[in-house]
Amino acid sequence: MGMPELLSSETLLPEIAHADLVAQLTVALPPASLLHQREDLKPFECDGMTAYQRVPLLVALPENEDQVRAVLRICHKGRVPVVFRGAGTGLSGGALPYAQGLLLVMAKMKQILHIDPVARMARVQPGVRNAAISEATAPHGLYYAPDPSSQIACSIGGNVAENSGGVHCLKYGLTVHNIQKLRFVTIEGELLEIGSEGLDAPGYDLMALITGSEGMLGVVTEVTVKLLPKPEKAQVVLAAFDDIVKAGQAVADVIGAGIIPAGLEMMDKKATAAVEQFVRAGYPLDAAAILLCESDGTSEEVANEIGRVKEVMKNAGATEVRTSRDETERLKFWAGRKAAFPAVGRIMPDYYCMDGTIPKKQLPYVLKRIDELSAKFNLQCANVFHAGDGNLHPLIMFDANNGDQNSGSLTHNTIVGNIITASKTVQLGCVPRSLDRTQDNAYEYIACTSPANGDKIIALRTSDDTAVFQLAIAAPTFVLVRPNDTQLFVGQGNGHVTTIDISKRADGSRKNVVLPKRTITLSPGNLVTSLAFVPGGGTLIVGTNTGFTFNYDVVGNLPALIASHQSFNGVAAVGLSPDSTKTYVFLNAPAYDLDASGNVLLAGNVHIMNTATLSVLSTLNCSPNPITAALLVKKRYFYVTQSDGTLCTVDTTTDLVVNSSAPGGFLAAEDIAGKRLFIADQQDNVVETVTLGKTGPTSDQQGVSFGGLPANSTVVGLSVFSK
Ligand SMILES: Cc1cc2nc3c(=O)[nH]c(=O)nc-3n(C[C@H](O)[C@H](O)[C@H](O)COP(=O)(O)OP(=O)(O)OC[C@H]3O[C@@H](n4cnc5c(N)ncnc54)[C@H](O)[C@@H]3O)c2cc1C
Repeated sequence: MGMPELLSSETLLPEIAHADLVAQLTVALPPASLLHQREDLKPFECDGMTAYQRVPLLVALPENEDQVRAVLRICHKGRVPVVFRGAGTGLSGGALPYAQGLLLVMAKMKQILHIDPVARMARVQPGVRNAAISEATAPHGLYYAPDPSSQIACSIGGNVAENSGGVHCLKYGLTVHNIQKLRFVTIEGELLEIGSEGLDAPGYDLMALITGSEGMLGVVTEVTVKLLPKPEKAQVVLAAFDDIVKAGQAVADVIGAGIIPAGLEMMDKKATAAVEQFVRAGYPLDAAAILLCESDGTSEEVANEIGRVKEVMKNAGATEVRTSRDETERLKFWAGRKAAFPAVGRIMPDYYCMDGTIPKKQLPYVLKRIDELSAKFNLQCANVFHAGDGNLHPLIMFDANNGDQNSGSLTHNTIVGNIITASKTVQLGCVPRSLDRTQDNAYEYIACTSPANGDKIIALRTSDDTAVFQLAIAAPTFVLVRPNDTQLFVGQGNGHVTTIDISKRADGSRKNVVLPKRTITLSPGNLVTSLAFVPGGGTLIVGTNTGFTFNYDVVGNLPALIASHQSFNGVAAVGLSPDSTKTYVFLNAPAYDLDASGNVLLAGNVHIMNTATLSVLSTLNCSPNPITAALLVKKRYFYVTQSDGTLCTVDTTTDLVVNSSAPGGFLAAEDIAGKRLFIADQQDNVVETVTLGKTGPTSDQQGVSFGGLPANSTVVGLSVFSK
C-alpha cells in the first residue's frame, strides 16, 4: 500500500511561526480547546486506519461555529493545512493529520439542537454520535435510518463526509438520502447553508457534492437529518448455506425477485465462529455462510415479504431457514452481526478491514476468489458484509509479529505459574490471576488458582522476591490492597469478596488472616472481575462478569450495600476519578446487548457514574471492542486497553475519549515516579516500557523490551515497585 501522495509531501509548510500561530489561536479558542504539547497531540496521530500515523502540529477542539470560523480564517491566512476529524473511526485515513498542519476536531460540538417530530427532522451538531440521534428521537417513535456498524462511536459530521451506509441503507438509502440541510464552513472561514427544510432549495443542489467529500471542501458544522417512524413490525430470516457461492447467489436472487429488504447481510463461517464465541447469537456453526434478511413495515407487509424471502432462500439451496420468533430473537441475530468486527479482533492480534463495493451479480465470483487468495497466501479471511448493496468487508487476519504471517491460528498460550520479577522467576505452583502491591512496596499479594495445589493468596516479599506466606482461599480472581495497607480485598469466582487483615503486628510481620464476618456475598453467578476502593467514603466498588456494579460500605463492622447497578454487560475494570467522585466502569462485553424485554442496549464501553449513587452520568465509547483493562495514569488519564490490541485514552477532566485507535497492549502498570508505563502486549511474553508525557501516555515505544519470559507465559498482571 503506498502512502497517499500529499502525505509524503513536506511542501505544505505553514508560513507563520508555530509560536505566532499558537498565540493567534489562543485568542480564538478557550484554553482547553487548543492542544499544542506533544503528549496532548500524540493521541490524535491516526484514525481507524492505524497503519499510518502522524502527530499533528496543533489540535483545535472548537465548541461552536464562531470558533470554527475563527480557526479556519487564521489557518487560511497563515497557509496552515487543516484536516477535519469527527470521532476518528474512519477506516480510510481521512482524519490523518499533517505533521505541519492543524487537526480540527469536532468532538466537542455534540448537541442535539432541535427535534421536530411533526416535520420528522432533527437539527444536530456535527460531533453528535450517529446512534445518539435515534436514542434522542425514540420517545417520538422516530429514528435515523443510516446505521454504520460503528454507529455507537462515529459522528454525524463524519457520516456526511463519508456518505456512510449500514444495514438499513439498502432500503432507506445512504447518508445523502437522509439529510435535509447542512451548515458548512469553507477553508477560508466562510459559512454556507446548503439544502433546506423543504423538498427543494433554490440554487445549485450541492448536497450530493458535499456529502462524501471526505472533508476536502470544508467542515460541516450542523446537520439537519430526516427521521423515519419506527416500523410497526420487523422480522429477520436467517438462512444457512453449505456453500458460500450459493449464499452469494441467494442475495442476487432476493434482489432479482424484486424484494428490497430492510437489511440483507452475509457472514461466512469464520465470522460466525468468532461471533458465537463472543455474543452467542445462535448462528449455525456448521454453515459455510449465513444470510440475515430483514423485513419491516406493517404486520401484513412483513408476513408477505418474509414468506417470499424464505421461498427464495430455499430455492437457492439453503440448508436451514429460520425466522425470528419475537423481537428478542431478532435483536439477538443482529447483535451477532454488529459485533462481528470486535469478535474477529478477539481471536487474532491484527486484521485488515477492506471496504469495497462490487456489482451484486459478481458476489459469488468475488467470494470464490477471496477464498482462493486466502488459501494461496495462507492468510485467514473472515467475510462480513452488507450483501444487499454489494459492499464487502473482507477482514484479512494476520499477526504483525509473525514475520511470514502464516500462523493462521490463534496461539493462546498455556498459563504457567510463575511470577517474573526483575531479579528472578518465582515458582508459584499455581496460576496467578491478579496482583497488587502494598503502598510501602514491601509485599506483592498474588491471587493464585490451581486445581491440583488448591487456590490461594500468596504474599511475595519484595526485598528478596521470596514467597513468604500462603493463605487458602477459593477461586481468587482479583486482589486489591487498601491504601493504608491494613486490609486486602479478594474478589472471588464464587461471587464473594473476602477481606484479609494484612495490618502489621508489633514485630513488623503482617497478620494475614481472614477477617470473620467481613465477606461480601453476591449472587453465585457473579464472578468478581475487579474492585476499586473509595478512600474518603470507605466504600468498595465491585465489578462482576454478569455486569453488576455494587458499592459497599466497608468501614463499619459489616459491609453494607449502598447501591447497585445491574444493567451493564461484563465489567472488565472499575476505576475512580482522582477525586473519587466519579466511577468509571469499563466493559468487556459487546457494544450491543439486549435487555430483558429485547431492547437493544448500546452498552458502550465506558460508563461514568456518580460514585455515591451509582447513577450513570454519561457513557463513552472507545470503540466497539471489548475492554481488557484500564489504568489511571498521571492522576488524570485512563489508559484503556482493548481486546483487539488498541488503546483509548479517557481524559477524566473532560470525560472525552482523546484517542480511540493508537496501538496499545492489554495490561499496563505505571512506575512509581510516573515516568514510565509498562505494557504487556498481546503476545503475552513481551513487556515494554513507554515514556509517559506530562499529561498522559504516549505510545513512543522508546523503551526496551523486558525479555526473559518463558515461551508459554500469559501475563496476568503487572506491578511496578522501586527497590
Ligand atoms: C468497527 C467499524 C465499523 C465500521 N462500519 C462502517 C459501516 O458499516 N459503514 C460505513 O460507511 N462506515 C463504517 N465504518 C467507517 C467509519 O465509522 C465511517 O466512515 C464514519 O462515518 C466516520 O465517522 P467519524 O466521525 O469517525 O469520522 P472521522 O474518522 O473522524 O473522519 C472521517 C472523514 O470525515 C471527515 N470529517 C469528519 N468530520 C467532519 C466534519 N464535521 N466536516 C467535514 N468533514 C469531516 C474527516 O476529515 C475524514 O476525512 C466503520 C468503522 C469501524 C471502526
